[in-house]
Amino acid sequence: MNTRLVLLGTGTPNACPDANGPSSAVVVGDRAYLVDFGPGVVRQASKAYFRGIDALRPDLLTTAFCTHLHTDHTAGYPDLIFTPWVLERPVPLKVFGPKGLNHMTSHILQAYETDIDFRIHGFEKANESGYKVDVTEIEKPGIIYEDDRVSVEAFPVSHGTLTCYGYKFVTDDRTIVITGDTAPLDLVAEKATGCDILLHEVEYAAGIACREPKWQKYHQEVHTLSTDLAWVAKKAQPKLLVTYHRIYHMNIQDNRINLPAEMAKRDEAILDEIRAAGYDGWVVNGQDLDVF
Ligand SMILES: [Zn+2]
Ligand SMILES: [Zn+2]
Repeated sequence: MNTRLVLLGTGTPNACPDANGPSSAVVVGDRAYLVDFGPGVVRQASKAYFRGIDALRPDLLTTAFCTHLHTDHTAGYPDLIFTPWVLERPVPLKVFGPKGLNHMTSHILQAYETDIDFRIHGFEKANESGYKVDVTEIEKPGIIYEDDRVSVEAFPVSHGTLTCYGYKFVTDDRTIVITGDTAPLDLVAEKATGCDILLHEVEYAAGIACREPKWQKYHQEVHTLSTDLAWVAKKAQPKLLVTYHRIYHMNIQDNRINLPAEMAKRDEAILDEIRAAGYDGWVVNGQDLDVF
């Protein structure tokens, strides 16, 4: 079956206008499997749908995998729970993720109970199952989901003290590995060895040098410098390396700068850094709504 990777959001906590919160979709035929639900997730899915990806029609969003509970990866969660329901998704949303996901989910449902009650018992008469969430907290790494299209393996990545999982999707025509937020890891290289697409976070190595020492330390422990991504990719040899969640280390709180131009400049520099560090495979910077 025709498997594609659709990038719904490639951003970070920074509210860059053209980089939505991290969210990706592995689309297998007419079914979509989301990884993360950063801000903008449902609108972005809708944009992709109107560009011809039928599986991303919002009411068809039924399955999602969460890498970790940081806000940039989860702030679209209420949107993913409720908007497709309002658009008549008939079944509960299935979500897999780290410990703590149950707690987050039940609190979101509680926060919106007035709306849920009104839609079910008021004039609007929404269906009574589409807002529900079937949560699976991952107990141990391994294959955590399988159906007739895909098998999904969760593997632990290293993101400070927060539990974070990367996911490996295997379908009958492609293998796609998505890292979530992580420091450079042998395990990522191992899981991604020979895969079709490795979607990996990255940070601009020259940019980090401008940060205060405490931030340099933090970023190096929990994220992957472009120069380190090169060794991960050299080891894994994916057919295609796609970067996302690019940390530019620039001030975006200044609307006098030409933000798209500044980002493009750093994007180019990140690719140069990856190549200069010795990776000569195919690498691109993923942008919102790119389809691979
Ligand atoms: Zn993040
Ligand atoms: Zn994070």
